Formats: sequence, structure tokens, C-alpha cells
Amino acid sequence: MPTHESGSTAQSIEEYIDPRLKPLIKMPESPSERPRLIGNKCKFCKEYFFPKRVLCPNCLKEEGLEDVLLSHRGRLYTYCIVKAAPLGFSAPYAVGYVDLPEGLRIFSPLTVDNEKELQIGMDLELFVDKIREDETGKTVYGYRFRPFSI
Ligand SMILES: [Zn+2]
Repeated sequence: MPTHESGSTAQSIEEYIDPRLKPLIKMPESPSERPRLIGNKCKFCKEYFFPKRVLCPNCLKEEGLEDVLLSHRGRLYTYCIVKAAPLGFSAPYAVGYVDLPEGLRIFSPLTVDNEKELQIGMDLELFVDKIREDETGKTVYGYRFRPFSI
């Protein structure tokens, strides 16, 4: 099972990403890059969207939407601890809403060593790691946020 900490390459981690999430994640191509979420932005009203929209809900135009890489850092808006996990997940785990500088609020699993670390307003960073196991027991990766540490 690959993990970031074991030094696995972005390419090997990419194989494990949930196919439904792959179009939303740009994996780093060098050690200096970070994984990023792919959203889009309307060039007319300048609003950002994640997941991407095919039509701007403000302008009702399709032709103004452009793919953009979103900030890999955000702030915790709110969170909760899930104590009864759905199939494939292991409880307890944290989920929350993360505010990005682009004005987006993103729902995401959160990673902390101890749930007491979670503080509303804290700085978080995006990373890619295990989310769940599929019905065959295969590890499935996706995006998560964790406390930002320099
Ligand atoms: Zn628009």
C-alpha cells in the first residue's frame, strides 16, 4: 500500500485514486509541486467552481469556463467526527468544509492524529492519501486536507 511518507511516486499513487476523483486532482510532476484540485473559473463573472461546472450558474454561459488549479491551502470552516462509518471506511474519521482563497467551500475528509487538534479557522493543506477500501478490499485514494505545517 503506497503512502506519501514511504516515498512513492505521484504516478504510483495516481493508480489508486478513485476514478471518479481523478478528473478533479492534478498530481505533482516534481518534488517541488503539490497536488492540486482542478476547478474552473468563469471569465465573465470571475467566479470559481469546484467540482467544475459545464455552465456558469451566474452568466448561464458555457464558453466562459476555464480550468484552473486551485490553491492547495485553505482554512477549516467547520468539521464533524464520523463515528459510524459506511462500508469501506473506518471510523472514527473527520470530515469538514474547507474555505479556499478563491472563495470556494469544499467538503473533504480531514486527517489529524487526534481530533482535538481540529480548530475552526485553522490552516489546512491538501494532500492525497487513502480514503477507503473498495468492495474487493483494494485501497482507494482521494484528496484530503490536514493541518498545515511548515
Ligand atoms: Zn459567470
